[in-house]
Amino acid sequence: MRKKMVAGNWKMNKTLPEAVQLTTEINQLLQKKSAHPQHITVLCPPFLYLQKVQDILTLLGNTTIKTGAQNCHQQEQGAFTGEVSAPMLQSLGVEYVIIGHSERREYFNETNAQLKEKTDAALRHHLLPIFCCGEKLAQREENCHFETVRSQIAESLFHLTPEDFSRVIIAYEPVWAIGTGKTATTEQAQEMHAFIRAQIATKYGAAVANETTILYGGSCNAANAKALFEQPDVDGGLIGGASLKAPDFAAIVNSLPQNW
Ligand code: PEP
Repeated sequence: MRKKMVAGNWKMNKTLPEAVQLTTEINQLLQKKSAHPQHITVLCPPFLYLQKVQDILTLLGNTTIKTGAQNCHQQEQGAFTGEVSAPMLQSLGVEYVIIGHSERREYFNETNAQLKEKTDAALRHHLLPIFCCGEKLAQREENCHFETVRSQIAESLFHLTPEDFSRVIIAYEPVWAIGTGKTATTEQAQEMHAFIRAQIATKYGAAVANETTILYGGSCNAANAKALFEQPDVDGGLIGGASLKAPDFAAIVNSLPQNW
């Protein structure tokens, strides 16, 4: 049975005291219920706070909330000022890393070829990639959204062995929905998630495809999460804005289906 997941991408938000407060509040709200064995919650703060967030969760005895980075460099080490490598994240005990967020693709010119290298670096160091894909508005309007997403996945992931691929989480994030308040409809999300799963099945077989966790991201909030997460191929969410408020984020986590 594939895992369901909600991951919070804090992006470049929060000061250290605010990050401490948010982590503490999320822990309080989510610790009240017993953790579902197939549900995973991940916090992705800025690099700077990863260790602190982990320390707080450990101190509070929370073993169910995991941490993830928002990016990693493709090289192991060296003269790359300002960058953070996969071995560095591994040495902190970080478990997940977001790869290929649309903001990285857009503002930092990350290409499918580079994201392939980042995915490889993450997997080499036992980090679980949350690999982002998604079309821009113009691409949907030109009816090339399926081809855009197919090539993003194929060019960055389909060189992996089935064993390595099975460690990847996919996040479908239509760019026009990110931070805009324009959520994809449940039909649009389900349609693309089913398409992604079908591409995986063609490449790796039905068993691998059925086990792949595919998240939706793009203006997912406490009000719309349940309907999105009820779609058969939507396995949770990658949450931006709504992950910055503990009650909203906890409500989204609690929107994962319980009968899974
Ligand atoms: C994101 O940036 O991954 C995201 C989904 O953002 P938001 O939830 O704010 O649309």
